[in-house]
Amino acid sequence: MTDAGLRVTVLEGRDRVGGRTWTERLDGIPAEMGASWIHGHQGNPLTALLRETGGRSYSFDYANVVGGDENAVAELDTYLAKAEEVEDPDTTPYSALLPRKMSPALRYAVNSVLVQEYGAEPEDLAVSADEEGTAGEGSDFLLPDGYDRLLAHVRGSIPVRTGAVVTRIARNADGVTVTLDGGEILRADRCIATVPIGVLKAGKITFEPALPTRKLEAIEALGSGLLDKLWLQFPSVFWDKKADAIEWFDPTDPGRWSLWVNGYRAFGKPVLLGFNAGRPAHDHAGLTDRQVVDSAMDALRRMHA
Ligand SMILES: Cc1cc2nc3c(=O)[nH]c(=O)nc-3n(C[C@H](O)[C@H](O)[C@H](O)COP(=O)(O)OP(=O)(O)OC[C@H]3O[C@@H](n4cnc5c(N)ncnc54)[C@H](O)[C@@H]3O)c2cc1C
Repeated sequence: MTDAGLRVTVLEGRDRVGGRTWTERLDGIPAEMGASWIHGHQGNPLTALLRETGGRSYSFDYANVVGGDENAVAELDTYLAKAEEVEDPDTTPYSALLPRKMSPALRYAVNSVLVQEYGAEPEDLAVSADEEGTAGEGSDFLLPDGYDRLLAHVRGSIPVRTGAVVTRIARNADGVTVTLDGGEILRADRCIATVPIGVLKAGKITFEPALPTRKLEAIEALGSGLLDKLWLQFPSVFWDKKADAIEWFDPTDPGRWSLWVNGYRAFGKPVLLGFNAGRPAHDHAGLTDRQVVDSAMDALRRMHA
């Protein structure tokens, strides 16, 4: 929009830009707290941005994986094949395709294939979720120089007001007024709101006039998943140095710490990135940082026993 000569101000509620992309540094490498990958890099506009910044890419190979349970995933595939026959994929949950009682191995496979991908359990996930994000082609990139480079590049010199929490957006014939939580009112010709679904569901922003019914119905119907990441730094590498990913089937709690990224391979440092998604992520949500690290270390010890 600034390229088109419009005057733009970005209002950001937090004290930093980036939202769910958020790069911290760990042992000199970019520890992404939010997005790590550019999925399907071919034709992905983020790849063009990456090239413009001169940033490096690491082509992540999901097939270069150790651990896991191939047989369980093959068994799951036989159930998922029935997705083709589902008449209403938007309202049919994945759980409708699965047996009511699942073996620990099958529960692991469900976590590995579905829950790690979407952050949601099969009863909360429509079969049509599979169509999400299928547009990109080619491998997924990790960014050894960090997502924050892309962010700085996109931000350019556009004015951003951080700590500006919007509570009301009102539109009339003269334009738009936006109210901040301190009571300040800003005026503009147009306003584009890009807040996440959770903010809309919680009704944190009052829209005047109210949003159209179709949008309200979509906000009501959509949910959001939970995906947790934990970066751990070690004195040296004790895991498989050559694998891109490490999977783990915990028979006592299938799905817990089921996926790890080998930071040594992608970034050359002895770091691991562990994931919990869906139910295991909710189980960890109420724990202290120490307890989460203890849980991850317990998993790593048992994986390498
Ligand atoms: C753990 C995790 C891992 C992920 N991994 C990947 C990945 O590898 N690859 C990938 O492509 N995607 C990934 N994603 C998804 C990706 O990060 C998001 O799709 C993307 O960041 C969404 O961008 P957005 O602008 O829509 O929302 P957000 O990034 O959430 O930005 C919304 C912004 O609105 C601000 N805001 C909210 N309410 C208000 C308010 N009232 N007033 C003012 N500002 C407000 C927020 O502070 C935030 O900055 C991941 C997400 C998470 C959480």
